[in-house]
Amino acid sequence: MIYPETPSEALEIAETAIKELKAEGVAPNPQNYVIWFEYLTGRNSALVRYIERAREKKLKLTAERHNEIYSKFFAGGLDGSMPEGWSEKIEAAASQIVRALDSAGAGTEKYGAALSAISGNLNSAESKSDIAALVGNILSETNTMNGEIKSLQGQIEESQTEINDLRNQLATTQRDAVTDRLTTLANRRGFDMALEELTSEARKEQTPLCLIIADIDFFKKFNDTHGHQIGDQVLKLVGRTLDDGTKGRDFAARYGGEEFAIILPDTPLEGAAILAEHLRKTLETRRLARKGSSEGFGAITMSFGVTQHLAGDTLEALVARADKLLYKAKELGRNRVVANIREPDLKKSA
Ligand code: GH3
Ligand code: MG
Ligand code: MG
Repeated sequence: MIYPETPSEALEIAETAIKELKAEGVAPNPQNYVIWFEYLTGRNSALVRYIERAREKKLKLTAERHNEIYSKFFAGGLDGSMPEGWSEKIEAAASQIVRALDSAGAGTEKYGAALSAISGNLNSAESKSDIAALVGNILSETNTMNGEIKSLQGQIEESQTEINDLRNQLATTQRDAVTDRLTTLANRRGFDMALEELTSEARKEQTPLCLIIADIDFFKKFNDTHGHQIGDQVLKLVGRTLDDGTKGRDFAARYGGEEFAIILPDTPLEGAAILAEHLRKTLETRRLARKGSSEGFGAITMSFGVTQHLAGDTLEALVARADKLLYKAKELGRNRVVANIREPDLKKSA
């Protein structure tokens, strides 16, 4: 994220942020500081709403509440590993700002004092040359002040660049924590988070939501025949096919191993079954190219279990039902879609 503020705008925001922290009686450490800086820029509307609501309710923003706000709005609720030494770097960048603010305060005071001394002398100036000398003093004080301000601006800009870099690193780390490297789809963790969010939204808005779980057929045999690396290429191909075949708010993920999941908000069972059938057919016709040969590796097929989220479903129950329907598709001969709002009867236990 880029900070669009000019140094003097940022300085003003920084000063207000420190004042707010003082008023709340919490430590102006980097974590607390970033909350107020972001709040005062007004960019993060959810954060602004949160703080304004707290103020309307006259809630005291205690140190503990600052911790909560930070993990809600800045840490993304994730515990993915952080860039090395990040806290020290933020600490250093923030204290550089605080130091700059302190010396800005001292600098302006000195300047103010020099100016009033000069204006005191103006009253008693008797000649043009006295006045010229005083004006010369004013100019020289102002030049000094300008020089100080420029160097402060430089320091603040530098600190902000550092904080910016850290934010970008943090965003990358957070993205990595929910992404499957091989397919670049969401991983299991990303899936769990999305499922929780999208089902609760569906419940609130009373819209249908479906879940597809799909598993590659006879993949062990494929790996045994062609090797794991080629197997990985298949997983990538499957990932791309599922991603290309879904759109909008549909959420495709690698659930684990050779199993994939797709969450379909605002979609009833019939629609989800049609989509799954479309994905199944598309995949069946796609071929992984074989290097140096015009012939591919043969068809890759998948089996699909499709179900709809029901009132009172826990997330576990929803996933388990889709999984059982997938198992049923395997039982019925693979390379097919089994869609139902109810659990299937299985010959063997899943
Ligand atoms: P089924 O049709 O019943 O699903 O048979 P299957 O062989 O696909 O299922 P099984 O669960 O017996 O084997 C899954 C195989 O998937 C085992 C492993 O070789 C392969 N697999 C799982 N994860 C990966 C992966 O990350 N890379 C590769 N190349 N293969 C994987
Ligand atoms: Mg399989
Ligand atoms: Mg499997």
